[in-house]
Amino acid sequence: MRYDFASDNTAGWCPEARAAIDAAQRGAASPYGDDDWTARAADAVRQVFETDCDVYFVFNGTAANALALSSLCQPYHSIICHELAHVETDECGATEFFSNGAKLWLAGGANGRIDHNAMRDLATRRTDVHYPKPRALSLTQPTELGTVYDPTSLAGLVATATDLGMRVHMDGARFANAVASLGCDPADLTWRIGVDVLSLGGVKNGMGMGEAVVFFDRALSAEFAYRCKQAGQLASKMRFLAAPWATMLTSGSWLVHARHANRMAELLAGEMRKRGVGLAYPVEANAVFARLDPSQRHRLSDRGWQLYDFIAGATRFICSWSTTDDEVAALVADLEET
Ligand SMILES: *Cc1c(COP(=O)(O)O)cnc(C)c1O
Repeated sequence: MRYDFASDNTAGWCPEARAAIDAAQRGAASPYGDDDWTARAADAVRQVFETDCDVYFVFNGTAANALALSSLCQPYHSIICHELAHVETDECGATEFFSNGAKLWLAGGANGRIDHNAMRDLATRRTDVHYPKPRALSLTQPTELGTVYDPTSLAGLVATATDLGMRVHMDGARFANAVASLGCDPADLTWRIGVDVLSLGGVKNGMGMGEAVVFFDRALSAEFAYRCKQAGQLASKMRFLAAPWATMLTSGSWLVHARHANRMAELLAGEMRKRGVGLAYPVEANAVFARLDPSQRHRLSDRGWQLYDFIAGATRFICSWSTTDDEVAALVADLEET
């Protein structure tokens, strides 16, 4: 089986992350995050975002999202997200569970982006006590369909949500790819426009494990450490989660990898178009959603490619830090009849 394009979590550790783990391996260190690596990693996040945020490292993205959203909500609150949001479709109800019952309200919107009016409609439909009170907006950047919110429309959504009394969470499992795609400062996609808390992805950017929860509104992180511990998300050898962040953010390799992955997706999209394959969504980050005809689909399967087509009737191909030109060429060659 070839898993190369099935997801960006089929790739291994990137070399910088491995080197950081090796370096953190020398000697003993204080456990549970009370170590120099963790302090340096949190500082690196503050430097990249140019602000004094609170940073926590957890094992995976589901935990990052569920715990971040839980810290915004009471059980009688609701959270507005896109109908294809990972928190809704791929996290087994973790947000509802960890928040003790906050409800997800699903907003529509083309190309994976929440429609402004749909969001406003859900947030203002009712104000009575029988309707779970809208309290948070959760945006995915880049979206589950490989598109990005441009800074202006993002700022518009966040401003409306804030005006309506909601707090704003961003699922940035692939945040690096959005930064690389838009070429703007991480701060301009987050706290400067009013995002309160970010789930910042490490794994899909080249680490082997670990995501960060970044609180721009530090008041929201009070007691967050207890939440992490109770949820089984406080790593005892925290330095091994943290060390890759310190290295990758400081050296800039997080963006080098994201740019590479985006470029590979662009290459793949171009090669598919040349062969007449229709693309279901604009390619704005590291994912390509292709409308393969049944014979193309079968050829790829027969030739061993693992295909992922749960989402929106198209086949998803995702590029990572490790995708090569040769892999793209091999995939598109296998699309052709021989
Ligand atoms: C991969 C991903 C996550 C994190 O998933 P885990 O498997 O829990 O690490 C979260 N949100 C989005 C949009 C993702 O693609």
